[in-house]
Amino acid sequence: MNKPQSFRPPSVDTVLRSTAGDLAIAQHGRMATTDAVRHIIERLRGGGPVAASAEQVGRMALDRLEVQSRPSQRPVINLTGTVLHTNLGRALLAEEAIEAVVAAMRAPTNLEYEIEAGQRGERDAHVRGLVRELTGAEDAILVNNNASAVLLVLNTLAKDREAIVSRGELIEIGGAFRMPDIMARAGATLREVGTTNRTHLKDYAEAIGPETGLLMKVHTSNYVVQGFTAEVEPTELAKLARQHELPFVDDLGSGTLIDLSRWGLRREKTVQDALKGGADLVTFSGDKLLGGPQAGIIAGRKDLIAKLAKNPLKRALRLDKLRLAALEATLRLYRDPDRLARRLPTLRLFTRHPAELRGLAERLQPKVAAAIGANWTVEATDCASQIGSGALPLETLPSAALALRPAGKSASSAVEKLAAAFRAVPVPVIGRIAQGTLIFDLRCLEDEALFAAQLDALKPELSDALA
Ligand SMILES: *Cc1c(COP(=O)(O)O)cnc(C)c1O
Repeated sequence: MNKPQSFRPPSVDTVLRSTAGDLAIAQHGRMATTDAVRHIIERLRGGGPVAASAEQVGRMALDRLEVQSRPSQRPVINLTGTVLHTNLGRALLAEEAIEAVVAAMRAPTNLEYEIEAGQRGERDAHVRGLVRELTGAEDAILVNNNASAVLLVLNTLAKDREAIVSRGELIEIGGAFRMPDIMARAGATLREVGTTNRTHLKDYAEAIGPETGLLMKVHTSNYVVQGFTAEVEPTELAKLARQHELPFVDDLGSGTLIDLSRWGLRREKTVQDALKGGADLVTFSGDKLLGGPQAGIIAGRKDLIAKLAKNPLKRALRLDKLRLAALEATLRLYRDPDRLARRLPTLRLFTRHPAELRGLAERLQPKVAAAIGANWTVEATDCASQIGSGALPLETLPSAALALRPAGKSASSAVEKLAAAFRAVPVPVIGRIAQGTLIFDLRCLEDEALFAAQLDALKPELSDALA
């Protein structure tokens, strides 16, 4: 009777001296390699009688080290059809902004230093002038994001007082931004007026009292109230606020600086419109329609901005030099609207022509079909992209997609597995699943070769996944 030969692993030292071990040390260092080799040997010992050479163990250690050294946050290919996808990092930065960030990372900058005067300066000064120029605001101040902007405004102007908001505008933005919760954290008391579908000027007027800190309008970014509805025009609210010497704040959310109808998109109220309409302060995001880095921008009356600047919370919410550099470079692009759609990725993606996208779909169709095999059909089809991030919730952009479906009868899990296989390639491809179909909306695919390269990596993944 033969007893099974028990596994005798190579020693750690032998593995480290093998070709693969050598390579691993060169790439990842001796300590990490030794740890990985030990881990592989332990695992092989636990797995029963498997023979493995030093070279093989070295290769396994190398694979492990490669997976471990992959950054956690890494590029993906966004084929979801949502251009400003919050989960995928919202706006892509313009090359000009990327260069500005890199320059600011490499060297000391005059972040808070006035070069001519040789004295301490203010960080927001680098962007304030541009915001004033582009929006017509008297002054501006920058914070971490629009949620911070709203928090700072409420905490400064309505702490221990009431902020009057229509019931139709008590938004929740994805994640944990709920207007009533932000109010509470800011120390302001929410004074809801009107009803979900209708709010009138007299509702606001009747709510104003000695406790009132401000009147607020919130852009219903990610939904619309339709049917029997009424809301109060911002100009009316501004007038009412002025009569009572109260600030009127307009939280625009996406905050576009330019009339998008110029590019065939629906006209969205701009920051300039809001200020002209009488808002004392306007708050908006840097990384939604604006197409810049994550930031919150507050523009408006100089005396109110000065109050915000004095709030100690401003220090906690301030922008770092990298995002200020990116924001400054992004805003500069708006000085030349004629070239904006070419230079600002967000606008470039919004304005891609459906025919161009259709052509892309038809070119990629046979490649994808070949990569996933005969069990699937791949069809080039029309679809509708979304702006995303709660901007223009009902507006869709005509686009083109690849629709991937099982050719015959198939378990519904097959499409999930296919989607998972596309996510497992070196640059994960993220689509969306609808009605048993994996849809790749091609609006945001600008690097065709990168996508094609992922198809090669897909094959082994796919046979594993669909086995
Ligand atoms: C998106 C949005 C916010 C939150 O902005 P962030 O920049 O994501 O913090 C607040 N208010 C409105 C109306 C929004 O659309």
